Amino acid sequence: MPTQNLIHPSRRLRRFVAAGFVVGFSLHGATVLAEASEVAKPAATFNAGVGVIDITPSEPIELKGMPASPRTAEVKTRLCVRALVLASGETRAAIVTLDTLKYPEEDARKARQQIERVTGIPAANIILCASHTHYGPLWAWYPDRLVTRITEAVTLAAKDLSPCTIGAATGTAEGLSECRRVIKDGNAWNRWQLKPEEAGKYPAEGPSDPSFDLLAITAADGRRKAIVYNFACHATSTRAPLISADFPGEVEEHVQQQLGAKVPLLFLTGACGDVNPVVSLRRNLFAEGLGGEILRCLDRLEPIANPTLGVVSREFAMPTRENPVFKEAEIARNWPAQLEHYRKSFDLMLRRQKPTYPYMMTALRIGNDFAIVTNANELFCGIGLSIKKQSPFTRTMVAEQTNGAHGYVPTAEAFKNGSYETWFGEHSHLSTKAGEKIETTSLELLNQVKLSQ
Ligand SMILES: [Zn+2]
Repeated sequence: MPTQNLIHPSRRLRRFVAAGFVVGFSLHGATVLAEASEVAKPAATFNAGVGVIDITPSEPIELKGMPASPRTAEVKTRLCVRALVLASGETRAAIVTLDTLKYPEEDARKARQQIERVTGIPAANIILCASHTHYGPLWAWYPDRLVTRITEAVTLAAKDLSPCTIGAATGTAEGLSECRRVIKDGNAWNRWQLKPEEAGKYPAEGPSDPSFDLLAITAADGRRKAIVYNFACHATSTRAPLISADFPGEVEEHVQQQLGAKVPLLFLTGACGDVNPVVSLRRNLFAEGLGGEILRCLDRLEPIANPTLGVVSREFAMPTRENPVFKEAEIARNWPAQLEHYRKSFDLMLRRQKPTYPYMMTALRIGNDFAIVTNANELFCGIGLSIKKQSPFTRTMVAEQTNGAHGYVPTAEAFKNGSYETWFGEHSHLSTKAGEKIETTSLELLNQVKLSQ
């Protein structure tokens, strides 16, 4: 059990009040003021700021995440860069979400360096998370690959800093997401590779994760300033060929409508390498299912007492796939129409393959009970769940597709079972041990940031 949970509730309350934070429920009046005066050492003021930059194309573009890349200028929900800057004492950090399919490591590095030059926020304290929407242009379509737009969003957020309170909650959105891999006759198949009559016939290979954590940031005047949430599901619920932020865009619209305020919702992509929207859902239920649960979470926020910030990040060389083999028979069996596509993808990646890739991971702590830990992959859900379970924090967000885009990281079991995410190509090129490395490094960083003051 984390040691801070052993602190008597009244002591936790005094620390909380001493920090100068607005207490959201029944704690007001003279008792609180009296308790506050008992504590000599005030905590640092917590400040937050938000900045949103619209990056929706205004001309026809190819939807690069969709098969056949259809062309359109029609917009369902807008694409944005959303930035949240947090400041406590001397420490500043930025959480940035991008409505893009992915955002490569070298661009993320440039953007983080540019943000440091312009705002002074250390590059190591900045996390850039791609939502993985399949319904927009690639990052490379934008001038300077989005570096300027991302920097603008963080600059706006840094200028918007003001004293805030922060609360956390955990929600559950059942019935929206599922493991997209099933075991048929001892081998893994992706659900889309099965015949329609086989739907629902085979057991899922792994778990999905309907549970999610949420942060809500509230200004001193009571205005809700930003909501951050982490949900593990591929942003592939839109079936029409329209420009769209996919379910994170619909969830934001729903929550904003219900709140009657343009509160930015920052979606941190959870470990969903093998998790998709439930394929049999007849209509898109994310706005009400996930958006509705986010609204309920806002009613049961637990204030983060003494929200000091801690950030640790680590850069290392992540090894490439060992002895890649083209899985011709398996691809021909599971997905024959794509055999030539994946043959080309294999050959191309073999030429581009490097022994190792620069890899960055970050753990960001707010207070003593909440943390975010990042990885730069499409991480299988079981690994994300294992990190959450072993984390020394009460609430841990595992944010994938962050500060880089190195493709799928399946579990050891999934590598044995095969199918799409394990086939070597641009979409899957790291070591078969990458999952283990990400899990152990995540836990090391979480334990390290837990001790940081
Ligand atoms: Zn994906």
